[in-house]
Amino acid sequence: MNVEQILAGAKDGFLLEPESKGILAQSGISTTACRVANTADEAVKLAEEIGYPVVLKALSPQIVHKSDVGGVHLDLNDASAVRQAYQRIKGATRVIDPEARATVQPMAAKGVEVIAGLTTNPQFGKVLMFGLGGIFTELLKDVSFRLVPIEELDAREMIGSIEGNGVLEGFRGGPAADVDAIVDILLKVSTLAESYPAIAELDLNPIIVYPRGAVVVDARIGVSRGRVETRSAPVRLPK
Ligand code: ADP
Ligand code: MG
Repeated sequence: MNVEQILAGAKDGFLLEPESKGILAQSGISTTACRVANTADEAVKLAEEIGYPVVLKALSPQIVHKSDVGGVHLDLNDASAVRQAYQRIKGATRVIDPEARATVQPMAAKGVEVIAGLTTNPQFGKVLMFGLGGIFTELLKDVSFRLVPIEELDAREMIGSIEGNGVLEGFRGGPAADVDAIVDILLKVSTLAESYPAIAELDLNPIIVYPRGAVVVDARIGVSRGRVETRSAPVRLPK
């Protein structure tokens, strides 16, 4: 499905991980594609098609922070680990959503985790956010913002202005992270937000960055068609 088709089939609200990643992939952003399993057997079949190691995650409109509810199982290496993870997800989500299912996706290698986000401000319109993952964002609020659309220089400034940006230059003598790959994702998110007014929010958390390349492993897109992005006063109709 292309972006128009995914959005046409969506109500206002948040798209789940498979549809969100579908939109990103259509925009040329690299993601760990995720496929939906309705049973433990299906999860095993998908894992075997994808190839081990895989990740299983809870899939439910009621669950936003999947790991908070025991809904993320990483680095599963065989059929019995997949089966057990599926059952654990069902057990953990029974009360929140008895209909919850699971996604199966490839396990991405370790790298530097960063995040990119998009929000819509009623006054200024769409705002792009960049930050380093984990405590850098949540605790230290070490993030940068730019109005959409951005150009390459803006993307580089967003990344460069983060306090903790030394993390991208290599850790303990390790290789530097591919900043160009992050720039590319920020530019593509900006274009996506500009091209599709209905995309009001977006959360790529995290993007795993390597010495070469970067991949989005978790994504959520908020759709809103009713939003009025006008800066002028509302029109008053005569009585
Ligand atoms: P949530 O944010 O809803 O709790 P995530 O999908 O972000 O769930 O998963 C939690 C963490 O698990 C991520 O921050 C990342 O570190 C890791 N992770 C998730 N998916 C993958 C994947 N496909 N490959 C490797 N690590 C992953
Ligand atoms: Mg996440």
